[in-house]
Amino acid sequence: MQTNFSNEQLKDKDNKSSEQILRKCVHCGMCNNTCPTFILLGDELDGPRGRIYLIQDMLENERKPSANVVKHIDRCLSCYGCMTTCPSNVNYMHIIDHGRKYIEKNYQRPFFDRLIRNALSKILPNVKLFKIMSYLAKIGKPFQFFLPSKIKNMMDLIPSSFPKKILKTKEIYKTKYKKKVARVALLTGCVQKELSPQINESTIRILNRHGVEVVVPEKIRCCGSLNHHLGKNDDAHQDFINNINIWYDQYLKGNLDAILSNTSGCGTTMKDYGFIFKDDKEMKKKAKKISELTKDVSEYLSESLNLKFKSKEKKLRIAYHSACSMQHGQKIHSQPMNLLEKTKNEILEIPEGHICCGSAGTYNILQSKIAKQLLKNKVKNIESLKPQIISTGNIGCITQIANVRIFQYFIL
Ligand code: SF4
Ligand code: SF4
Repeated sequence: MQTNFSNEQLKDKDNKSSEQILRKCVHCGMCNNTCPTFILLGDELDGPRGRIYLIQDMLENERKPSANVVKHIDRCLSCYGCMTTCPSNVNYMHIIDHGRKYIEKNYQRPFFDRLIRNALSKILPNVKLFKIMSYLAKIGKPFQFFLPSKIKNMMDLIPSSFPKKILKTKEIYKTKYKKKVARVALLTGCVQKELSPQINESTIRILNRHGVEVVVPEKIRCCGSLNHHLGKNDDAHQDFINNINIWYDQYLKGNLDAILSNTSGCGTTMKDYGFIFKDDKEMKKKAKKISELTKDVSEYLSESLNLKFKSKEKKLRIAYHSACSMQHGQKIHSQPMNLLEKTKNEILEIPEGHICCGSAGTYNILQSKIAKQLLKNKVKNIESLKPQIISTGNIGCITQIANVRIFQYFIL
């Protein structure tokens, strides 16, 4: 694609990097074929190619974003299905991140939109605030009929009670079963550790059982992806820097073999820390190392440990839902499938499995109409398999699909 950035504009590091990405795009439009919003809405501007044009136009002409441009950019799920399809390796993830950052800086959203986005940005990464909100949501539930739809959507996703934690909160979970074979750090997440503490607990148990010591540094915060995708750069960077410094410190003193994420949305952002800080003299080296060390838990279990499962007599039908951040963001698909295969149950691939379930971070709150349609399609495809269990590796997808209240869910 031809670009027309001036030399002055290219002095900006974000423009320079986006320009290199934009030049790779050959306008072929193949990406539209796998874009959930293009498939649903049929509008060129709701597909990746159209959004790339809109972002390029804003950046090159230093144009103030219009409400219409913002609408089409906001409708992007950041599912990265387009990146899997693109034959030219266009890094759409970095283009849309830049577009969102530009919009956040140069566009004044309507008051209510700002309010809700600011609330999400502050509440979701903060466990204490999230618990207070869930308490208030419980009180307000009978009156939610009178509330605006975005607040209702948020309330629908907040549970009225939280599961009990079984494992005591500690900084180091030592392996008791055999000689230590590795030492890893685990990102326990922000909302996830309250919504589904069993995910972290089972992750720690399976690692400990296979000789892996698990470190959970106390001061680690949200991975930053939520704010990053809302275009809230300053808030996201505070979390990025905090986490990178703590993990790097652990790496220097403690021989960290890997940093594990058991929610693929977080892992995708952590693997991108290296790119995000590539022009930052102080953080560059550390961020790159942290990204290199980051692995999804399924990747680590499948590649670094020789797991064996006892075979059961009764086989279960397990549908594997591959989260977009897992299959498109991190290009991980065979590893979780291989692990599930080892359980000797019947593992089923979901038809149209490359299409998003509509969760996408805060998308199901901010763009609920599209999210609900995507969920409906996903559930129809899952139901066609008649599974007894649905397995997935991302808390957002678990919450979204479980919210249908038809299925049980299971995480390895
Ligand atoms: S990230 Fe997903 S929704 Fe956004 S343009 Fe790409 S395929 Fe479409
Ligand atoms: S598939 Fe890739 S090269 Fe083709 S239009 Fe989409 S982003 Fe551009």
